[in-house]
Amino acid sequence: MVRSGGARIVMMGPPGAGKGSVSERLADNFGLVHLSSGDILRAERASGSELGEKLKKYMDAGELVPDEIVTEIMIKAISQQDSSNGLLLDGFPRTVQQAQRLGEALDKIALPIQAVLLLDAPEEVLIRRITGRRICPKCGRVYHVDTMPPVNDSICDLCGTKLIQRDDDTEQVVHERICLYHQETEPVIEYYHKLGTRMIKVDADAPIDEVVSRAADRLTRIGLLESKERPA
Ligand SMILES: [Zn+2]
Repeated sequence: MVRSGGARIVMMGPPGAGKGSVSERLADNFGLVHLSSGDILRAERASGSELGEKLKKYMDAGELVPDEIVTEIMIKAISQQDSSNGLLLDGFPRTVQQAQRLGEALDKIALPIQAVLLLDAPEEVLIRRITGRRICPKCGRVYHVDTMPPVNDSICDLCGTKLIQRDDDTEQVVHERICLYHQETEPVIEYYHKLGTRMIKVDADAPIDEVVSRAADRLTRIGLLESKERPA
């Protein structure tokens, strides 16, 4: 089923809201192209391209990658995809400047962003979700102390290795990430609001299946996604 143009949606929300996993599920269920800025930047970096080399310099120095470089890479990725079924941007735009540059690029091809899907949850829920994560350093399996604990305390079920907490998942780093979100990314919501872009706010303080179904229902109801046939 090909929709002319397809839905173009920006996924937004604070760290820990579940943007990545919700995007993946929505993309699978509705045949949308899911572009995660994290994945795309990592791939560009690994490609050894000129842009990738620039990216590497900033990342290796632990600096934020400038908006124009992020935007250039993301717009290139968008233009390389057949998004006739729809497009879901995840992790981008992260700043108002990125949103403006994206807008200019999409206006040229007359395919503006149609909706912002905003996942929202109380800050203590976000913090608990992230700080409770434990990872197996050997096989990469991800656990959570509350929702998906290993059978034996802090030992990987699959390979018996002692689980670790990633540096990014510690309480201090999570606070910094949430602060950065308030400062730099929340203004993007305001930017789209002023443009008159549809804003769909979904309560993300729920299991992922529920969050996906809430988001899908809302997007279907306003005609951005086509509802799938359901058993009666
Ligand atoms: Zn393991």
